[in-house]
Amino acid sequence: MANSQPRSQPESQPESQPESQPESQPESLLSVRNVETYYGPIMAIRGVSLDVPKGRIVTVLGANGAGKTTILKTVSGVMDPQKGTVTFEGDEIQGRDPDWVARHGIAHVPEGREVFPFLTVRENLLMGAYARSGRPAVAEDLDMVHGYFPILDERSGQQAGYLSGGQQQMLAIARALMARPRLMLLDEPSLGLSPILVKEIFGIIRRLNEEQGVTMLLVEQNANMALQTASYGYVLELGRIVMDDECGRLLESEDIREFYLGVKKDAVRGKKRWRRKKTWR
Ligand code: ATP
Repeated sequence: MANSQPRSQPESQPESQPESQPESQPESLLSVRNVETYYGPIMAIRGVSLDVPKGRIVTVLGANGAGKTTILKTVSGVMDPQKGTVTFEGDEIQGRDPDWVARHGIAHVPEGREVFPFLTVRENLLMGAYARSGRPAVAEDLDMVHGYFPILDERSGQQAGYLSGGQQQMLAIARALMARPRLMLLDEPSLGLSPILVKEIFGIIRRLNEEQGVTMLLVEQNANMALQTASYGYVLELGRIVMDDECGRLLESEDIREFYLGVKKDAVRGKKRWRRKKTWR
């Protein structure tokens, strides 16, 4: 692509740092390097590399079918990559079972929520804590998730299948929290929700990051929300990362504004759209 921003690493220090001190990079909790993952003969992601620094929210933007879900499935062990490495807290985890990955601190909130519809809300939450032994700590965490999602306390005894879409999304996030993850993988939490609910859920995601210290890798088609929530972003097209930068800079990028935020620049008015479509490759 004609990469309008050269790929760079996330920065943690303010620009006013004295020149004599080297700028320190934030510790990378998750590193994905040159990963290729296939569905049978179809290569869904090709040479994907990204970093998620500890304590940050990092987003991957991309259209339908770009490969966002495949990245998350590769990190959480649902899919094995054919090539490349996935390193979490310094250890290579590619090819591990999803159960092993979950027990070692990565919680995956899948696209479409996938709550257990015939279990109650409380039972769903306790399923999130299945690998934990300390009952008092689990009870404390139930109180903690009820604090963030009071509706789940109110609906505690109700079957999850009867919750609205937004409430099921809250339950899916809360269930993942019950595992006390250090990294949460969020697959399109905005999908199918009203703008008000999307705002509410992204507000809670930000609070969980700030108050509970959960690092997040968020994949989204709702570029506006994702870029306002995350600190660093990657843009995925047809399985490849084509751009990455601080979210503030991505929000100002002409290509992002036109193709992901729907903001048309005056200067391109009148140009045939197909002429500008392939500018990134
Ligand atoms: P969406 O937003 O629609 O979920 P995505 O960016 O998450 O899209 P993926 O679901 O990762 O994209 O899909 C990446 C590519 O892999 C697409 O071309 C898709 O058609 C293909 N793909 C996904 N799932 C399968 C499958 N089970 N079998 C074959 N191909 C698949």
